[in-house]
Amino acid sequence: PRKLVMIPGPTPVVRSIQNQMGRETVAFGDLGFINDYKELLKDMKELWKTEGEVFVIAGTGTMAMEMGIANTLKSGDNLLIVSNGFFGDRFIDLAERKGINVDVISSEWGKIVPIEDIEAKLNEKKYDGITVTHVDTSTGVCAPIKEIGEMLKKFPETIYIVDGVCATAAEPEYVDDMNIDILITGSQKAFGVAPGLAIVWAGSKAMEKRKELGRIPEYYIDFDKWLPIMQDPSKYFATPAVNMIWALKESVRIIKEEGIENRYERHSKNAKAMQAALEAMGFTLLADKDHRAVTLSNVLYMEGVNDLEFRKILGEEGVVVAGGLAAYAGKMFRLGHMGNIDIHDMVSTIASIERALYRSGIEVELGKGVGTLMAELLK
Ligand code: PMP
Repeated sequence: PRKLVMIPGPTPVVRSIQNQMGRETVAFGDLGFINDYKELLKDMKELWKTEGEVFVIAGTGTMAMEMGIANTLKSGDNLLIVSNGFFGDRFIDLAERKGINVDVISSEWGKIVPIEDIEAKLNEKKYDGITVTHVDTSTGVCAPIKEIGEMLKKFPETIYIVDGVCATAAEPEYVDDMNIDILITGSQKAFGVAPGLAIVWAGSKAMEKRKELGRIPEYYIDFDKWLPIMQDPSKYFATPAVNMIWALKESVRIIKEEGIENRYERHSKNAKAMQAALEAMGFTLLADKDHRAVTLSNVLYMEGVNDLEFRKILGEEGVVVAGGLAAYAGKMFRLGHMGNIDIHDMVSTIASIERALYRSGIEVELGKGVGTLMAELLK
C-alpha cells in the first residue's frame, strides 16, 4: 500500500516538485539554469524580507547550523545557546569544537525558555552570539522568535542566530523586521522538497561580522567563497545541486501562488485541527498549549501502547511517523503536518492512527478523531 511519510521531515513532495528533480540535468553554466538560480535567490530575499544575503547550497540543516556559526563567531567568543530540546543542544558540541565558549540555558522539554531568563543571562556578560531553535523537533515547542528579536535590540553586539529548520515556510520569519541576523534552514521540511539543500539568510550585521573575522578555518561553508556566486550564479566555486535548486524554485513558486501569509495561516489552522483530533483520540501532547508548533505534533502515548509495535501497525495502515528522541524514546511519536500536504493527507493520517490504535487493542471510538479534524477544518 501507498505510505504517507508524515515524519517531521522529509515531508511529502508534490508531483510538480518531483518533476523538477526528475528533469534532465544541465550544465551549471547553462544560461537557463543560471537565470533560474538568480530568480530563486531574489525571491528568497524578498519573501523572507532581508536587505542582506541568502545562501542556497548543497547540504543539510546541520550544515546550515555550522555555516551560521562559522561565519559569525570565532574561537574565544562567547555564545549563549537557548535550548528547548535535542536540536538546541546540537549547537553545544558544534560550537565547542570551534573553541567557542558556550553557556546553555535550557527549558524543561515541552516548555520554552522564558524571555526574561534569556535577558537576565545576557545582562550577566557580553555574548557575541545567541542561538535559538524556532521549533525544536524533539519537543514540538515553538520559541517566541519575534519577541526575542525585539528584546535583543538592547544587545546590539550579539549576533542573533535562529534555527528555522523545522519552522521556515510554515512560521513567520522576517529576517530584518524580526532583528534576526542569521536564519538557517533546510529544504526537506516545510518547503516540501527532498533533503539536500542548506539555506542560510544573513542580515547586514552578520555580513559585517563575517568581514571582521578575516580568513576563517572552514572552506566549503565560508560566506566569502559563496557570496560571488550568490550575487552572480554564472560564477563557479563548487558545483551547485542543479536539480535541487530547480526543486526549491518550484516550491517557492507554490509559496508565492498560495501567498506566504496564507501559507502561515494554513499551517496554524491545520495544526490546531490535527492537535484537536489527536487529543480527541485520547493522546496528550508534549508541548505547552501556548507554545505549540504548527509544523509537527509530539504525541505522548496513552497507557498500554508499545511504541515499536504501534508504529509498525501504523505503517501497515499506510502512515509513517517518527519516534521520540532521548528520554522520550518509546514514549511518544512525532507527527509532521507541514509543507504541501492537503486535506486528503490529513484525513487519511488521522484515520490511519485510529485504525492503528484499534488494532493495538486501545479502546477508541472509530471516527472520533476524523470527525474532530473535519469539524475543526470546517470552522
Ligand atoms: N534543527 C532542527 C530544528 C531540526 O529539526 C533538524 C532536523 N530534524 C536539524 C536542525 C538538522 O537538520 P538536518 O537533519 O537536515 O541536518
